This record gives sequence, structure tokens and C-alpha cells, in this order.
Amino acid sequence: MSRISVEEAARLWNEASDDELRELAGAARARWHEPGHATYMVMRIINYTNVCVAQCDYCAFYVLPGQDGGYVLDRDDVFAKIDGLLEVGGDLVGFNGGFNPKLPLDYYCDLFAAVRERYEDRVEFYALTVAEFLFLADRADLSYAETAARLRDAGVHWVTGGGSEILTEDFRKRHAKFKYTVAEYFEAQRAIVENGLRTTATMVIGFDETLDERLEHLQRTRDFQDGCLRDGLPGLFSLLSWTYKPYGTALGGREIEPREYWRHIALSRIFLDNIKHIRTSVLTLNEDAFRALDYGADDFDLPIEDEVTQKAGATIDLDLESLLDVPRRLGYQVEYRRAERPAGVTSG
Ligand code: SF4
Repeated sequence: MSRISVEEAARLWNEASDDELRELAGAARARWHEPGHATYMVMRIINYTNVCVAQCDYCAFYVLPGQDGGYVLDRDDVFAKIDGLLEVGGDLVGFNGGFNPKLPLDYYCDLFAAVRERYEDRVEFYALTVAEFLFLADRADLSYAETAARLRDAGVHWVTGGGSEILTEDFRKRHAKFKYTVAEYFEAQRAIVENGLRTTATMVIGFDETLDERLEHLQRTRDFQDGCLRDGLPGLFSLLSWTYKPYGTALGGREIEPREYWRHIALSRIFLDNIKHIRTSVLTLNEDAFRALDYGADDFDLPIEDEVTQKAGATIDLDLESLLDVPRRLGYQVEYRRAERPAGVTSG
């Protein structure tokens, strides 16, 4: 199958039946992955602070500085959460909080170094999102390269592509005007990979974004990956798309139907011919997420906590074995996957 254009992607979205999308996405998936096989991780998102100045209108999680209910986790809180993750067999942590102006870069570096020292390779962690990375660099008055180097020296291997939602400048102006521009997002992400860290792509659908905006997001992601691969960089490990949860947010709205999500996953798999892993979101879709494996997804997390999406209406099922039975019943053999360590990183 040859690479498709944005116009062809729009035509597929508007005209292809579910069966056609499944078939095309299945063929694209088979270029990378054995049919009938999927991988997963058990993970916990540690929301280290809920204080944030970004004020995104789709967020039900944050409080402003000085408001009641704001918190910052200390090292012992974080260790207790990681110990709880290990107890249920998980080994991946995602740190995700707000743009908290009271937290200096040293808070993060000390925390990540302590986690690496205590757990070594027993857990892997996704330290921050690109959005938080931008805020850190800004507050510390450091270049993106310098910020990435500081994190790497503190034992960080991964900065996820979170905080992207829909990567168009217009979407940002409508909903998240203090969350940096799309150009800045990709500039920072490029510095992250150039400085030896790994990263991922994410996307959230179901706000008020248009089809053109979804396609622009996919196009920019594919272009970014082309640039990395052309320059010999590892680029984006995966794309994880999830669905907007509207409850308790200023923006409000309704959740999209699972079918729309499955079709989006298929389109992402077909369009992103240079990204190996297309991940499906159990966090926001629960059991419905697994049908996306038929639409081109190959990998998923079983999360045990994420306050950000839980505050907006996500419900987490902690019966992991029962959850895994769902893809098995769909005909998939599921295998646990460890997070990859970037090539050349041997310690810290
Ligand atoms: S989505 Fe993230 S950056 Fe935006 S207000 Fe919520 S915590 Fe802050």
C-alpha cells in the first residue's frame, strides 16, 4: 500500500465503510505486527501536582495557584504509588501534572534521580509530557536542548508526546492559549530526541475539532517522523489517541461513540505509515478500546490511576485479568511489553 495524502484520508473517512477501513488498517498493521498478536503494559500515571496556570478549557483536573485543593506530591508519596504499581505487576509510570510555577527544575530532576536510584530498571517512567517540558524550559530559562540534557542526567529516558490534544494553532487558540504553540511543541520534541531521550505521539479527539484539524495533526506528526528518520534519529515510538472526557470541564460537551474512535484508529494506522505502534486507550474507553485492535491498533496500557481523566469522567477497572480476557475473546494473543531503553543509555 502506498502512502496516502490528506485528501485521500478525508475521502476514506467520509466514504469508506467500517469493513473497508478495517481491511486497509489490518493490511497496514501487518507490515509491522503479526496478525492476532497484541502487546500491553500495566501502568500508573502519577499526578505529582494539580496546580496549573495553563487554564485549558477541556481540563477538569487543575486548580490555580493559591486555590483550595492544590497539592504537590513529595518523594514518599511517589514511592508509595510506585510500590503499589509493582504490587499489581505493573512497571511503567507516567508522571503528569500541571504547569506549577512554584516547582523549579530541581524538583523534577531530584525526584526523577531518586526514582531511578531506588527502582533502577524495575520500573520505567515517562517523565512529563512535551507540554510540561516546555513549561519547565521556560521557567528555568534554559534552551530545550539544555532542559533535555538536565533530565537525561537525572535518569530520564522518556518524555511523552502528551499535552498535544489537537495540534493545530487554531485549536490551541480556542482552548489552550497558554499551552505553547504547535511550532514550539515540535521544536521541543525534536530537541528531546536529538538529546538522546525517547518520545511518543499522542492525540485526543472528540472536542469540537474538525476533520481537517484531525488530519492536520496526523500530517504534522507524519512530517515530524519523516524528519527524524531522515536524520537518523529514532523519532516517535508510537501514537496513542484517546477520547475527550467532558465531565466537570469548562468546555463541556458529549463523548464520542466508540465507532468513531475505531474509525479514527484505522485512519491513523493507514495514514501514519512511518510509526510502528498505534495504541488504543483503555483509560478512556474501557472494554470498548479493544475493538480498535481490529482497526489497526497493536498495543495498549492497562492503567491503574490517572486523576486527570478520572476527574473528567474516566472510570478505571482494576480487574486486569478480566480486562485481558476481552482481547483474548476477540482472538488476540496478548503479551506483556517492557518499555524500551534508548540505545546507548546504559545507566542513570
Ligand atoms: S490539561 Fe494540563 S496544562 Fe491544561 S489546565 Fe489541565 S493540567 Fe494544566
